[in-house]
Amino acid sequence: MIVITLGSERIVDPTDDDLGRDRIGYSPTMSPLALYDASHGAWHLGERAHREHFALMTFDGVGVLAVEINHIAPVAATSGSREGSRRSVIHGQVLAAGHPVYDAYIGKPAPIPPQRNPIGYYDAPEEQTPCLCGCGETTPAGKDFIPGHDQTALHDRVRQIGTVQDFIGWFDRTHGNWPDINVIYEPVRLEDGTPSGESARQRHRLGCGHFYLDSSGKILNTPRIATAEEMASLKPCKTCKDASAKAALAR
Ligand SMILES: [Zn+2]
Ligand SMILES: [Zn+2]
Repeated sequence: MIVITLGSERIVDPTDDDLGRDRIGYSPTMSPLALYDASHGAWHLGERAHREHFALMTFDGVGVLAVEINHIAPVAATSGSREGSRRSVIHGQVLAAGHPVYDAYIGKPAPIPPQRNPIGYYDAPEEQTPCLCGCGETTPAGKDFIPGHDQTALHDRVRQIGTVQDFIGWFDRTHGNWPDINVIYEPVRLEDGTPSGESARQRHRLGCGHFYLDSSGKILNTPRIATAEEMASLKPCKTCKDASAKAALAR
């Protein structure tokens, strides 16, 4: 959770403000949306901010606004701003009573002690998920595993096959090793190129030509990179496999 310490409401010149606002900070008279506008940017946010799911605005040591983060975007510096703005704005959903994060933090003491930097972080229990290794402990925000547990989980599985060499041999026999066959051509209706809603059946090599063209020669299927799930579940296209094997021999 990003914990942001707000100051009192301040009138600012919209031409000087990175987000073009006329006021920033906190006032008890602001509606939740007005407070969101006045407080969701523009902040110097570290790497960690991008792993957090929630932002909590605090004023005078009390939680005043809870936001479920959708994404964090850099803001373009305004002409009047002092620095080549490396600031970001938090985009998200303002939470209301009944949401566990709202209920746990709004009107309650801030979860971290006062500090000089307006941006702080808190490992909120609401953001922790069970470690995917199955150990029963909870992970830090935005992580699938407790540090190191991914390695343990992986090597537990390698040991069930044998050595690392045995494991690689088994993987290649069962799944095939085609990391460069990683493109999905989105299934479309051939009449008009609109998505058919079906899921893709194969993955391809980029530029393999296994897409459809309309009468003017425009590509109908939009290519995109396969997700990790698709890399694991979709078969590689046979022709693409041969092309990939040839390319590997040529190397
Ligand atoms: Zn674990
Ligand atoms: Zn193909």
